[in-house]
Amino acid sequence: MSVGQVLENIPIAPLTTLGVGGTARFFMEAQTDRDVESAVAFAQQHALPLFPLGEGSNILVPDAGIKGVVLKMSLQDIRIEEDGDSVLLIAGTGVPWERVVSEAAARGVFGIENLAGIPGSMGGAAVQNIGAYGAEFADTFEYADSIDSITNAQRRVNRADASFAYRTSIFKKNRSLIITRVALRLAKQAIPNTAYADLESARAEGVPLTLPTDIVRAVRSIRARKFPRDVGEGTAGSFFKNPVLPQEKFYELAKHFPDMPAFPQKEGTVKISLAWLLDHVLSLKGFSIGRARLYEKQPIVIVASAGARAAEVDALATEVARKVFLATGIHIEREVETFGSYE
Ligand SMILES: Cc1cc2nc3c(=O)[nH]c(=O)nc-3n(C[C@H](O)[C@H](O)[C@H](O)COP(=O)(O)OP(=O)(O)OC[C@H]3O[C@@H](n4cnc5c(N)ncnc54)[C@H](O)[C@@H]3O)c2cc1C
Repeated sequence: MSVGQVLENIPIAPLTTLGVGGTARFFMEAQTDRDVESAVAFAQQHALPLFPLGEGSNILVPDAGIKGVVLKMSLQDIRIEEDGDSVLLIAGTGVPWERVVSEAAARGVFGIENLAGIPGSMGGAAVQNIGAYGAEFADTFEYADSIDSITNAQRRVNRADASFAYRTSIFKKNRSLIITRVALRLAKQAIPNTAYADLESARAEGVPLTLPTDIVRAVRSIRARKFPRDVGEGTAGSFFKNPVLPQEKFYELAKHFPDMPAFPQKEGTVKISLAWLLDHVLSLKGFSIGRARLYEKQPIVIVASAGARAAEVDALATEVARKVFLATGIHIEREVETFGSYE
């Protein structure tokens, strides 16, 4: 692939972790801000929507493909600036998230070590506000630089304006913002965050959890046991969000399912485990439609086996949502988005 060139009818499935779906009408790659501006100009000239693509680990590409311009974000610069008790890690949005985590850990600074092992890019992490093991991307976010694909304006989005919430951000709501660079504030002083159950168990087994590198190693090892990355099948991780319920709804449900794991949230709502519902209430581990199925070890994850179509993944997700609603009255939301259709 040549940077700056406009390619036509390019298969996108190989650029995603699910590995399903059709082609992009136009495809470009950006390694610099100038490349992003060129892609914006091209999309505007042809009156087409522009869809930034990171590592493709949180998207479902439709079988019919994408009638617009897919822009692969490959800005790879990364630097660390000293700032008193903390450092600023500033990286292009094409930098793989695992590289961001490794750079921070090697530097001995804290804040993102619990987010080790999550696939994707710096850009995707910001859009999704990734989270795991008691930490969230938003915890360390300082600012993001972006180019507005409609107005061409450059815009810096600061923490106060980023509207981060559970797996969402302003970037998910305002689709014209193409993020070029993100700055994270990471702490020099030790603030290990190891209260999460899996990490507590690792500690009890004698796994060291003092340095960022210790935690990164432990989290990667825990995650490697949970996700189907090694079995040669497609997945986008958790396909659905865990439901966040008002207290009244939670108490009503808890009467029927007293063992249901629950996590009280700051706002007074209660997050419940969808994987638990899918397993213990609906017995859906391994449930399949065509070549798409709920992963046996972690049923919130959809696995697409060789030859699967996006329509099968979509049908499975719709059917799972229907079953959850019938059993519990809860409307579950997808975490994975259908790429190229931002309604
Ligand atoms: C095995 C597996 C495990 C996972 N585990 C977790 C987990 O523990 N926690 C978690 O939160 N997520 C998890 N995920 C989901 C996924 O890794 C994250 O959502 C990731 O941050 C997506 O990044 P990406 O670069 O792949 O984004 P993509 O999938 O390429 O894109 C996602 C969205 O971001 C937009 N986007 C990407 N780059 C930019 C940019 N520069 N500017 C504007 N918009 C942009 C895209 O247009 C799209 O809308 C997992 C996925 C897999 C496959």
